[in-house]
This record gives sequence, C-alpha cells and structure tokens, in this order.
Amino acid sequence: MAEFALELNDDQKAVRDWIHGFAADVMRPAAAEWDEREEFPWPVVQEAAKIGLYSLDFYAQQFFDPTGLGIPMALEELFWGDAGLGLAITGTALAAVGVLSNGTDEQIGTWIPQMYGDADDVKVAAFCSSEPDAGSDVAAMRTRAVYDGARDEWVIDGTKTWATNGGIANVHVVVAVVDPELGPRGHASFIVPPGTAGLSQGQKFKKHGIRASHTAEVVLRDVRVPGHCLLGGKEKLDERLARARERAAAGGGERVKNAAMATFEASRPAVGAQAVGIARAAYEVALDYAQTRVQFGRPIIDNQGVAFQLADMRTRIDAARLLVWRASWMATAGKPFTAAEGSMSKLFAGETAKSVTAQAMQILGGNGYTREYPVERMHRDAAIYTVFEGTSEIQRLVIARAVSGVPIR
Ligand SMILES: Cc1cc2nc3c(=O)[nH]c(=O)nc-3n(C[C@H](O)[C@H](O)[C@H](O)COP(=O)(O)OP(=O)(O)OC[C@H]3O[C@@H](n4cnc5c(N)ncnc54)[C@H](O)[C@@H]3O)c2cc1C
Repeated sequence: MAEFALELNDDQKAVRDWIHGFAADVMRPAAAEWDEREEFPWPVVQEAAKIGLYSLDFYAQQFFDPTGLGIPMALEELFWGDAGLGLAITGTALAAVGVLSNGTDEQIGTWIPQMYGDADDVKVAAFCSSEPDAGSDVAAMRTRAVYDGARDEWVIDGTKTWATNGGIANVHVVVAVVDPELGPRGHASFIVPPGTAGLSQGQKFKKHGIRASHTAEVVLRDVRVPGHCLLGGKEKLDERLARARERAAAGGGERVKNAAMATFEASRPAVGAQAVGIARAAYEVALDYAQTRVQFGRPIIDNQGVAFQLADMRTRIDAARLLVWRASWMATAGKPFTAAEGSMSKLFAGETAKSVTAQAMQILGGNGYTREYPVERMHRDAAIYTVFEGTSEIQRLVIARAVSGVPIR
C-alpha cells in the first residue's frame, strides 16, 4: 500500500502534462462548437483514441496506480479542458466500472474491450441504472429481469432514463430487479451485447450543460440476453439472494441497504475530480481577466472585492482537491469510508464547481454572460455536479447517516 503523498511523482507528472496538452490543444478549441451542436463529438473521442487517451489500457493504468491519484489527476486535467467533451471521453468508464466491480474475470476480459473498441473503430458504453420513478430512490427501480431456465436466458423489460451514451453505446450495462421482495439487494447487473433486439434509444435530452455528452432514455422490451451476461454469474447471484432473504427474515433490511450504499461511495471521488477540473478552469480565466481588465484606472483585481473572491475560489478548489485525493487514496488503500469520505469529496467538489464558476462569471462582468468567453459554458456544465451520481442532498444524507449512525431520512 502506497503512503499518502501530496506531491505527484515524476511518472504521474508526465502523464498529467500529456493529458494537459490534449486538453489545451484539442479539447479547448473544440469545446464551444460541440456545446452548440449538442451532438456526441466522435471526432474528438477518435483523436483521444489515436493517442491512447481513450483506451482501456490508459484507464487500467491509472486505475491501478497504487497511490490512488492516477484517476483524479487524469480527470481533473480532462475536465479542465472541457466538461462536455470530458464526459464524452470518460462516460464509458462508468459502464466499465460496473463490470469491473461485479463481473467475473472472463466477463471483464470479454466486455470491457468491446466497450472501447479500438482507435480505428471507436465504441462507447452506457451504464443504465436510473429510471423515471427511481432516481435518488434506487430501491424504486422497476426494470425487471426474469430467468428463462429452458433457454438459459434473462428477459429484461423496462425503461431506463438519463443514461450517458444510452442508445449509442456498443455495450449497455443494465441494472434490473431480479427479486422485487428484496429492495436494492434484489438488483443485479446485466450486459446487453451489441445489436441485441429489443433495446432502443428513447428520448435524447436537450440539456442545460455538458451538451456534447449524449444523455438519453433506453427502452428495453423483451430483451433476451444469454445467461452468461448476468454479471458475477448465476451461482453467485443465488447465494447473494439467499443471504439477503435470511437477513430480511431476521429484520436486517436497513443494514443491508446501507452496505449497498457504501459500494456506490467508491466511484464518487472520480466525479469530484471532474468538478475540480471545471472549477480550476473557470478560476484561471477569472484570475487572468481580473489582472487585465481595467476600470477606474486600475486592474479590477486591485479591488479587495474582486481579489478576495479569487482568494476564496482558489481556497475552495484546493480544499476540494484535497478531499478528492484523500478519498481516492482511501479507496485504493482499501480503507473503509467510515465518515462517507467519498460522498464528502463529491459534495464539496460539486458545490465548489457551481459556486466558483458563478463567481467567475461575475468577475467577467458582461463578458462573463456571453458565449464569447468560456465561463458561462463552464457554469452550465458545473450545474450537473450537484445532481448526477447522487445529488448534493443525497450526499449529505449519506454523510449524516455515516457520522451519526442514525437512519436519517
Ligand atoms: C446529464 C445526466 C447524466 C446522467 N447519467 C446517468 C447515467 O449514465 N446512468 C444513470 O443510471 N443515471 C444517470 N443520471 C441520473 C442521475 O444520477 C439522477 O438524475 C440523480 O440520481 C437524481 O435523480 P432524479 O433526477 O430522479 O432526481 P430525484 O431523485 O427526483 O430528486 C429531485 C430532488 O429531490 C431531492 N431529494 C430526493 N430524495 C431526497 C431525500 N431523501 N432527502 C433530501 N432530498 C431529496 C434531490 O436531492 C433533488 O434535489 C444522469 C443524470 C443526468 C441529468
């Protein structure tokens, strides 16, 4: 286990600088155009694939960095480049993590490469959990998966919503109910392979921000997938369901639900790192602007009213990064999040991105309000960071429960 260090090592710095180059030279110049087009930016993802930045190898390398800082460092740089394009490049990772955390070695080896494709034939993947009536309340999920033993197939029916890359993905990972009696413990994840009949894209959402990222409903009608598409396999599922039934019979439902929430905790620092990247980008624009914009015969940064805002912005960004790095290191080191440290990092970084980008707009005055400058886009992009992967309210709920032990509602 690596010691926690606040300084990146030479290898990490080299990777960071390489990503920064891509973010500055490829993403920044393309960001406004793809935001306006509201289309999935295939050419940008293809460019990332050509240099190995959009690839299974790259993410695996960062994921297995023993310091835990590889992923947050990479994400901060990409999202400093642009959040919409950043999500287009990293959205597949959510589905890949779904397979990594629940799949067998064989499933990981079979499906994750198909999620990325290769540099000549780039693919993306989608993770489909949310539903119209099951957002924060995951237990309200209705999409049903029923086992057809005669054909060793699972039959999936339901409607997923808000799926990043939904409908354009080569591989969809779908969470469905296999035992409605067990609440969230009766859920399982399935691979829906490329070209499976019955899966279609529903509405594609027109969004406030991250508009280069594709977000859509995914409709599943009588979707049949082979038995081997159940992540983790049937034997493991049957054992898990039997244990959950025993616990439920013994009145241990709430404890089981909390254990499931703890699993979600692990992916949150990565989302926090994205928010840090957006906040840093807006702060840099504002700092530069404040030093060059002259009013009343002096740069506006000469006024404490402006300079103190920048001081607060920078302080919050650094604090957010520290929370993200701590949580990422803890996750890599196998340290349990006893005080919901993953949620803390996502909550604070998401709120920081929203407030820092708003302050940046204010510092740019009228220019901040126009699309001639990037901060209004950054502010629109930042707004999702208090909503997806658990809203700020849900993060507070998780933290409050963890620190108090009280099942606060
Ligand atoms: C752009 C985008 C991309 C997304 N990508 C994906 C994806 O790839 N895959 C996927 O599965 N999902 C995805 N989501 C879904 C996202 O995770 C949900 O939107 C989010 O979990 C919130 O659910 P909801 O929208 O149904 O809001 P709701 O759960 O209806 O919440 C509405 C409001 O009520 C508050 N609230 C709800 N319950 C409580 C409570 N107990 N205490 C206090 N406040 C509460 C919430 O905080 C929120 O402010 C995405 C969403 C968006 C917008």
